[in-house]
Amino acid sequence: MTAGGLNVLMYETYEDIGDAMGAKSWSFHRVDLHRGLRGLATAEQGEGRAVEVKLGREAVGVDCEKGEVRMRGGEVVRGDLVVIADGAHSGLIEDFTGKPSELKRIGRSIYRWLVSMDDVLADPDLAEQYNRPPGFQSWTDPASEILWVSYTCRSGKVLNNAVVHPTQAGEGEEDLWHSEAPKDKVLAMLENFHPTPKKIVHLANEDGIKVHHLFKRPALTSFVRGRTIVVGDAAHVMMPTHAAGGAIAIETAASLEVLFKGISCKDEVVLKKRLELFDKLRMPRCNLTMTASNAGPGWIAVPGVEEEVRRFYAGPLPPVGSVPWGSAFREFLFHHDEYRAAEEALVEAEGQ
Ligand SMILES: Cc1cc2nc3c(=O)[nH]c(=O)nc-3n(C[C@H](O)[C@H](O)[C@H](O)COP(=O)(O)OP(=O)(O)OC[C@H]3O[C@@H](n4cnc5c(N)ncnc54)[C@H](O)[C@@H]3O)c2cc1C
Repeated sequence: MTAGGLNVLMYETYEDIGDAMGAKSWSFHRVDLHRGLRGLATAEQGEGRAVEVKLGREAVGVDCEKGEVRMRGGEVVRGDLVVIADGAHSGLIEDFTGKPSELKRIGRSIYRWLVSMDDVLADPDLAEQYNRPPGFQSWTDPASEILWVSYTCRSGKVLNNAVVHPTQAGEGEEDLWHSEAPKDKVLAMLENFHPTPKKIVHLANEDGIKVHHLFKRPALTSFVRGRTIVVGDAAHVMMPTHAAGGAIAIETAASLEVLFKGISCKDEVVLKKRLELFDKLRMPRCNLTMTASNAGPGWIAVPGVEEEVRRFYAGPLPPVGSVPWGSAFREFLFHHDEYRAAEEALVEAEGQ
């Protein structure tokens, strides 16, 4: 919708996603997703050994060739396979690439906050806005370069809000991820917006409004070094354009499961083959998703983007004009089955 006039620019429903893709589209509260994933990883049931989570232990360095991780305090842990997954602000990436991190702030930040849907629906103007099937609701103001995305989670009980905006002087410098953003500053930023969405700022829950910075880093040319691989944001931090950073990292977990189940990583020959296969599977898809996300809604019409994509990915692409969460990108990004892709790649490479 337009920010000032609330005129509808694009309307799509995702009701057919379950049938078309074999799985529904769900919006999670981050805490719930973390709890669910931890529950699965640490449960005794299911295949493999239950994961033991050790909190408060910081890895400070990796010898990628030897598979040795140095912990703060001096302990060295050795693994047959090391997976670096220390997120967007990865320090371990420097040992992986052998050079200083190239992570750069891009001059854009996000205000984020949660609101109770009971409060939203108690307001007649807002209730009218949200009297639609669940999904994203966005307002855009090209003049101030602001995009506000909202969607419900926790079975429709909580409204998540993210306002992508040009970073303001001094904003969030004390903590690049978790700084307070005063409501009056947020409202000043939203001066071009219609009064109705602005009411959502006043309804922020007890956590208030937080602000974090956005970052980019050049694409890696391999996710493998020695007996170490890098995954998730540490490997490919990306803009939130397609809401795909976490999704693509979870796909990578599926690759790991298929490629490394039932083999001994002590066997150098087997390990090397599987690591090569991992890179072959994940480099094109992860770097493509990062490049598409970093290009923004302009996608391959943005100068240089198609060339960058083609450094890694040779397959068909969503056409010019494809918009985030439109049908072409939905099909391309979210209809992918990494279990099947990894199993097929394994059969092709090793005939099993
Ligand atoms: C506001 C916001 C909204 C998002 N929305 C979506 C969305 O809708 N869909 C989507 O797919 N993605 C989304 N993302 C992106 C998604 O959150 C990330 O892509 C995802 O969390 C990356 O997972 P990760 O495990 O690589 O890194 P993280 O989730 O950052 O996890 C890294 C972990 O490593 C730990 N760590 C860091 N350094 C060390 C160290 N030295 N030693 C030991 N541990 C360490 C950290 O404490 C942390 O637990 C969003 C991101 C943000 C910020």
